[in-house]
Amino acid sequence: MKKIILIVFLFISTCLFSQQIDTLYILQTTDVHGRIYPYDYFNDQPAKVGFAQVYSRIKRYRAKYNNVILVDAGDVLQGTPLAYYFNKIETDKPNPLILTMNRMDYDAFTVGNHEIEQGVAVYTRAEKESDFPWLSANAELDDGTTFFKPYTIVKEKGFLIGIIGLTTPGIPTMLDTTYYPGITWKDMVEIAQKFATILFPRVDILVGLFHSGFNANEDAYKSEKLDLPVANASGLVADKIPEFDIVFGSHSHKIVPNDYKQGSKYMSKEKNLNKPLRINSGCWAKNLGVARLILEQVEGTWKIIDKDGWGESVEDGKKALEVALQIEKQISLNLESHKRWIYGN
Ligand SMILES: [Zn+2]
Repeated sequence: MKKIILIVFLFISTCLFSQQIDTLYILQTTDVHGRIYPYDYFNDQPAKVGFAQVYSRIKRYRAKYNNVILVDAGDVLQGTPLAYYFNKIETDKPNPLILTMNRMDYDAFTVGNHEIEQGVAVYTRAEKESDFPWLSANAELDDGTTFFKPYTIVKEKGFLIGIIGLTTPGIPTMLDTTYYPGITWKDMVEIAQKFATILFPRVDILVGLFHSGFNANEDAYKSEKLDLPVANASGLVADKIPEFDIVFGSHSHKIVPNDYKQGSKYMSKEKNLNKPLRINSGCWAKNLGVARLILEQVEGTWKIIDKDGWGESVEDGKKALEVALQIEKQISLNLESHKRWIYGN
């Protein structure tokens, strides 16, 4: 009898315990720049890049773990002949980059300068074709509202994850106002604070998804000349606004963290729970950015008890080809040039 009671007790306590602790993975891509296939358009040869390649790794995360969400920090609509062709020539077809991202089931996307660079018609159409929200809280209109959604709240099982998007306010150093009529690109720290104050009490986890680098000195002279806010302010937001649990940066094409490399992972030594994790997966979907949060439910509220993050190299070319072929089938993109390198001559 004692044994049975002990077993029942252990069973109940195990159930209770397993309900109270859970793990959430947030996966990031950024600056993919028109790359779906593991292919180098400029040298006409296979390359370890592109959505198809990173998608095979994302699928593995989803198969292995319960709670996985996927985000992209911008600059997807430009960078290859494929992107150019569907932005400017066959404009009556759905954008294959967006179709691919829909298929990959993204939860949020932040607008990059290269989306804006394609012109209003291209980026508004691409936004409409997207099954995921386009975010930019600092793309402000004259009446104080925003052109894009400022944030989204993702519900993943029991968690509420608030995601605020911000776009580099350095855009006027690259593009004139005809590309963004009526929009003023506001200071990232100011706007991040404004929306963090709104969202922080409403969510379990607060994420910054910024199309902007971590190094505030980068391109600073260009912004100063035009009296614009800091262009690469992701680090400033992470320093000044501790309400964020994670800040995903981008735009610089530099992998963060890069404190040290262990196997195929760029790891960080950052273990301070009171500071946001800083992650940037670089560019072209060569790497996947990963944030891992361990959460404990205390009196009905989820609290982060541990977190870490890294960027991992994605180098499984064969799997990528399989996925590329599935994507090609799905979006009916039977381009001869792609077939040639997928199947060989
Ligand atoms: Zn950019």
